[in-house]
Amino acid sequence: MNLNGSIRAMPLKPVSTVSAREKPPILRAAAPDKAPRSLPAAAPTFPFSAIVGQDEMRRALLIAAVDPSVGGVLVFGDRGTGKSTAIRGLAALLPPMAAVVGCPYACDPGRPAEHCHHCREQAVLPAESVPVPVVDLPLGATEDRVVGALDLERALTRGEKAFEPGLLARANRGFLYIDEVNLLEDHLVDLLLDVAASGVNTVEREGLSIRHPARFVLVGSGNPEEGELRPQLLDRFGLAVEVTTPTDLPTRIDVVRRRDAYERDPAAFCAGYAKADRAIRKALTAARARLPGLSVPDATLEAAARLCLALGTDGLRGELTLMRTARALAAYEGAETVDLDHLARIAPSALRHRLRRNPLDESGSTARVARAVEDLLAP
Ligand SMILES: [Zn+2]
Repeated sequence: MNLNGSIRAMPLKPVSTVSAREKPPILRAAAPDKAPRSLPAAAPTFPFSAIVGQDEMRRALLIAAVDPSVGGVLVFGDRGTGKSTAIRGLAALLPPMAAVVGCPYACDPGRPAEHCHHCREQAVLPAESVPVPVVDLPLGATEDRVVGALDLERALTRGEKAFEPGLLARANRGFLYIDEVNLLEDHLVDLLLDVAASGVNTVEREGLSIRHPARFVLVGSGNPEEGELRPQLLDRFGLAVEVTTPTDLPTRIDVVRRRDAYERDPAAFCAGYAKADRAIRKALTAARARLPGLSVPDATLEAAARLCLALGTDGLRGELTLMRTARALAAYEGAETVDLDHLARIAPSALRHRLRRNPLDESGSTARVARAVEDLLAP
């Protein structure tokens, strides 16, 4: 059964009595302290707080939302485990962003240092409130479509060299989601990871030279049975989580029941979770504000280093991610400091994809991380 996908095949009651014309534009749901109003019938978002289980995935996404510098999130696991639903749900509950009207990169009016070349040239920048974007990168996408390209029509009809922004432009300040990232060509994955790490997309072609802001959280999902990512790419994702179809009966029943209730009446279903979603939004906003002032004690850093050393992770990326992730988790939970418990809870997501194969140890990477955590971090 596909627990994630739609069960629209069965005849349904009319989804909503709200007519298409009356449906509130998503932009209007933008007051930061208000939950989204009843969602349009055509595109309701399943509430993040209504997702059953999948704690590790939800935590990883929340951490990336608190501190995008932890790097992307790789979600490995079965089909139909709510990966795409979780990302969309999370983006929908994030506070809407102030953006320069008409800017293809949705520049933040309050951060002139990050402005694109258009916005830099303007004296006055009218702002609007827009939802956090979630951009899907389809597997067949060409590099031009991803990074942007010369606007051929304008070049041919008006003889002007103009840039037509691609998917990376649209993803700025939001999420870029790639289903089956392990089937994407290596050079594209490489390129995406570069842009995600630098926050800048540079396009040089046909006499065009463009740099534009492209800060986004890269979320890739995939089924390892259908193709592996090269280890060099794997280890550049900040976090890696595993999702599985729930095997216990009550959870399965709960998943199906909620999905069905949502499909039958999205507005009523979403209203039931508005309060819980609002609480998450509040925690996220507070965590972002708290993050810059939260330092990591030496003892925690030392433990992170010992853990990476024991596991033999390459380079220092493991420690860096471990530290940032633990700090973001502590910020989200409103903790005063980043302690060993934060480290221990986040270690599997931050490290399992960085382990070299050990011919003497056939246990899976998750088990190896868990063992090292127990040996080194147990109180
Ligand atoms: Zn701009």
